[in-house]
Amino acid sequence: MGCECRTHGRGKRDLIAMGSGLGATRRNALVVALIATAGCAASIRPLPPLPGPTPVSSPSGGTASVPADATDVAYFDANPLMVPVEGVPPSSVPDSFNEPRDDGRTHRASDILVPMGTRVVAAEAGTIMRLSHNALGGTTIYMTDDSGRFIFYYAHLEKYADGLTAQEHVLQGDLLGYVGMTGNAPVPHLHFQVMRRDPGRRDYWNSPAVDVTTFFTLTGRVRASDER
Ligand SMILES: [Zn+2]
Repeated sequence: MGCECRTHGRGKRDLIAMGSGLGATRRNALVVALIATAGCAASIRPLPPLPGPTPVSSPSGGTASVPADATDVAYFDANPLMVPVEGVPPSSVPDSFNEPRDDGRTHRASDILVPMGTRVVAAEAGTIMRLSHNALGGTTIYMTDDSGRFIFYYAHLEKYADGLTAQEHVLQGDLLGYVGMTGNAPVPHLHFQVMRRDPGRRDYWNSPAVDVTTFFTLTGRVRASDER
């Protein structure tokens, strides 16, 4: 796997050692900076290696985005968005949507920094569209919400929740997997992206992203009756 650390001449262990002597706040800032400069760039344009239409790279190299509109606002009023990582409140989700990444790209997603193995939960109720692995996003999940308006993309997972399957319906807070650093991730974190879905579009993984940083209203929590 293409660990971006190599391009910066440092190994992951060195990066961790760099952070270990710092306070939590400074360490977090360092980690954010590492992700911004060293990784997580390509995971914004995942290319699922499964049957289906052949993805075509955008010449511009950037992921398109669309501004949140009144319908989005109404949607998240009616369907409060949960931070998809257990124990993380909305105030702890950094605003990294417009941060630059490698190759002139823009992030267009949220990076949620938590220890390896932290539980990842469904941000909304919906249906799992695809479980796939790719070089950039690592172990990933695509799901759509019950209205079909959005696609939620979860990347860099360590592993999936036991028994999770494509086409399965999940409720908000259901366990989906565990935070890892698969794919292009220099440190453990969840890369979470919300895209506006066009039902007529086959390459849904290239759908335009929506910045939901300000729409998170619920702290990540595993649903009590989720048996997984
Ligand atoms: Zn990211």
